[in-house]
Amino acid sequence: MAPVESYAPRVALVTGAGQGIGRAIALRLADEGVDLALNDIPRNEEALKELAEELRKKGRRAVTLIADVSVEEEVKTMVEKAVEELGELNVMIANAGIAHVATVVDTTVEAWEHVFAVNVRGTMLCYKYAAGQMIKQGRGGRIIGASSVMGKKGCPMVSAYCASKFAVRGLTQSLACELAQHNITVNAYAPGVIITEMTRSPHDKDKAEGKHGDSTKALLGLPSHAPDAEPEVIASIVSYLVKPETYFITGQAISVDGGVYMS
Ligand code: NAD
Repeated sequence: MAPVESYAPRVALVTGAGQGIGRAIALRLADEGVDLALNDIPRNEEALKELAEELRKKGRRAVTLIADVSVEEEVKTMVEKAVEELGELNVMIANAGIAHVATVVDTTVEAWEHVFAVNVRGTMLCYKYAAGQMIKQGRGGRIIGASSVMGKKGCPMVSAYCASKFAVRGLTQSLACELAQHNITVNAYAPGVIITEMTRSPHDKDKAEGKHGDSTKALLGLPSHAPDAEPEVIASIVSYLVKPETYFITGQAISVDGGVYMS
């Protein structure tokens, strides 16, 4: 591998950008001069439009692309529209994801398949269509997915989620092998407890300190006072991974979890 003179993070597509980690990533990349294609599902259309407006006020170009990442035709069209509107695609952040809480015994096939459709098929489709576009452009690129501390360590009550996030790591490693020859790196972030809607639970109030995130910590075997963080800590690692100087980092699922999982 070698640094590619022509690679620059000019245009990024972020899925699940309407809130939480995706939103923080979009804001951070915009601050660093990147134009943004913002994706989410119809439920978050308003939030997405507001974010696009905020990015335009920062002087960036921003388009909103409503699509369900688990549906192939929608992902294909989403990538095509991003390129049509913004001219190219240098960075794909396959961030969208969902969780399901149930024991294995109580997990239905429908719930299992829904989690896998969004977290695994959705990530694969975003990787696939972004990779195709970046190969065609011939200028390298960055593809980044969302794994989790739960993609490194099994936990009770979230088997479908854990298995899907382990799968994201396998997918990330395989694509990294395939795309090295094109100077496209493929990595994932593996967050610990980040304060977003995903880690809000009605059971938080029953835990020792009764704070947002406490139920997620309990699943990880952590006490209420264990570390948590705001989505900006993930935006920070993404900001680093999209820089041209990181051309030698690929196939990794980088833990950003306050030391919960140490490899
Ligand atoms: P979140 O629930 O706040 O946001 C997820 C976003 O994805 C939402 O905007 C949602 O509408 C969107 N989305 C859901 N299904 C979609 C679909 N089919 N197509 C397009 N968009 C869809 O969650 P978050 O905490 O911001 O998590 C972002 C990513 O980081 C997820 O993949 C999650 O699994 C992962 N992650 C989060 C944490 C955490 O502690 N919050 C920890 C580890 C990993």
